[in-house]
Amino acid sequence: MKIICVGRNYAAHIQELKNKQESEPALFLKPDTALLGKDQPFVIPTFSQEIHHEIELVVKINKVGKFIAPKFAQKYYNQISVGIDFTARDVQQTLKEKGLPWEKAKAFDGSAVVGRFIDIAEIKEIDNLSFSLQKNGEEVQLGNSQQMLMNINELIAYISQYFTLKTGDLIFTGTPSGVGKIQSGDELVGFLESEPLLNVKVL
Ligand code: ZN
Repeated sequence: MKIICVGRNYAAHIQELKNKQESEPALFLKPDTALLGKDQPFVIPTFSQEIHHEIELVVKINKVGKFIAPKFAQKYYNQISVGIDFTARDVQQTLKEKGLPWEKAKAFDGSAVVGRFIDIAEIKEIDNLSFSLQKNGEEVQLGNSQQMLMNINELIAYISQYFTLKTGDLIFTGTPSGVGKIQSGDELVGFLESEPLLNVKVL
């Protein structure tokens, strides 16, 4: 399986990192080794002094597809959850300045955390779904799929022009504003609406 991540899909987050809003989102990949094991703690890697949390809606692909039309995109995923795209912001900044790819900052071991998945059939309105992240009991990020520049179906159509989607692939759909640094001892809980689906301890 592969993990496809969307960058710059929420206007307020683009502004907080002082990036330019482009007409198309950024895409990057994480290998399967980036996936943090179930109930495992996240260990801050030694190569970064600034790991940020990015809470995101994550959809799981359930059918092979390429060049998917937006109107058929909903047939290609059947589960949704929240996930954290852990980012070594200091490393990313250096890579950006040098015009280099982001993998060292984004795709390292344990950098992708996903919560328990919910069947799409249980979701009332996919384009009006709130999600949030609490750090040590305090809400630090709050988003809604309404705020996406490209919605989930459009993202699937867009991504499938570049990468064949396969069963089990995960799509991290971008983070809203409020990203911030984590430190050892933090406890992070991700919510879909009011449902806690993800819980990770930082070591
Ligand atoms: Zn992200």
